[in-house]
Amino acid sequence: PETITVQELANRMAARGGEVVKALFRMGVMATLTQSIDADTAELVVQEFGHRVKRVAESDVEIGLEGATDEDTDLESRPPVVTIMGHVDHGKTSLLDALRKADVAAHEAGGITQHIGAYQVTVPDGSRVTFIDTPGHAAFTAMRARGASVTDMVVLVVAADDGVMPQTIEAINHAKAANVPLIVAVNKIDKPGVNPDRVRQELLQHEIVVESLGGETQEVEVSATQKINLDKLLEAITLQAELLDLRANPDRAAEGTVIESKLDRGRGPVATVLVQKGTLKQGEIVVAGAEWGRVRAMLDDKGRQLKSAGPSLPVEILGLSGVPTAGENFVAVEDEGRAREISDFRQRKLREKVSAAHTAGRGTLAEMLA
Ligand code: GDP
Ligand code: MG
Repeated sequence: PETITVQELANRMAARGGEVVKALFRMGVMATLTQSIDADTAELVVQEFGHRVKRVAESDVEIGLEGATDEDTDLESRPPVVTIMGHVDHGKTSLLDALRKADVAAHEAGGITQHIGAYQVTVPDGSRVTFIDTPGHAAFTAMRARGASVTDMVVLVVAADDGVMPQTIEAINHAKAANVPLIVAVNKIDKPGVNPDRVRQELLQHEIVVESLGGETQEVEVSATQKINLDKLLEAITLQAELLDLRANPDRAAEGTVIESKLDRGRGPVATVLVQKGTLKQGEIVVAGAEWGRVRAMLDDKGRQLKSAGPSLPVEILGLSGVPTAGENFVAVEDEGRAREISDFRQRKLREKVSAAHTAGRGTLAEMLA
């Protein structure tokens, strides 16, 4: 049976070890920090602390840094987070650029548009949509491998003059594996002689049945470069978002995922994070991956300084101790002590993983030589 030490459990919940010992005591379990408790007891403690338990698999109990369980009444509607995928040269970048320019808020901002890993646009009806602007499939795979689920839906770009290609199929498989709905954007319809019907037929072979063929997948014919039907695509996205009834509690400690990060010459470690729950505020202490720090400054994709960022908003944060890895979780914590605890825990985990990989490597080599 799986066990976990009291200290490790405390670390995973970002709680003090002593508090966990006390909670166990109240439950009639005597344990010190270094002692192990079984998964069922751990689960009770986690619930006692108001956290949610993730049982990844029977053999792998993982207690996520989920924070307090949100009551239904605390949840408020949040913008959808959209990833654009598709075969190379089918127009992903062009579409992202075009949608960015369709942002009604961008004109008011008047600021310099930053190129950060994600951006949010305001649709004419006032609702907002967040686009993840990472170079496609590799980033998506890396994030999924870390267990991060950031995207609510995928816009699958298929060039009408080229049809379904290997990376189109790959994208379909990604979306299926992640269990997120697809919206098909048949692109380049401005090109003479293109045949969108062929695209629909080819998609059928991959179990993507668009609405015009009686299926449930929304589909929009667009031209990224000629800016045709971009409003229809945004409408399809907001409709899908309504169907998904996306909600989050803005009124709690922030939690989310690192989208990208870099070491900036002048500004130090810079991370683009997507807030998924709660509200992140300037001056708060965050742990991102194994790094931590006080949020010195927070900027949106329009280069504006923000004091706070709520659910589905991507922001650049400055002030971390180092550069976290894309796909890693970030969480706002109460104080530096807690930040250190979590970051130490994560760094230790990282070292364990590395040394385990080394040991495994040696084992294989030994076997090979035997
Ligand atoms: P990506 O590799 O999927 O990011 O594709 P790009 O956005 O870089 O586009 C690849 C090429 O297709 C570029 O030369 C674009 O100008 C062109 N392109 C993209 N969208 C359209 C479109 O709607 N119509 C036409 N005619 N060309 C397009
Ligand atoms: Mg591109």
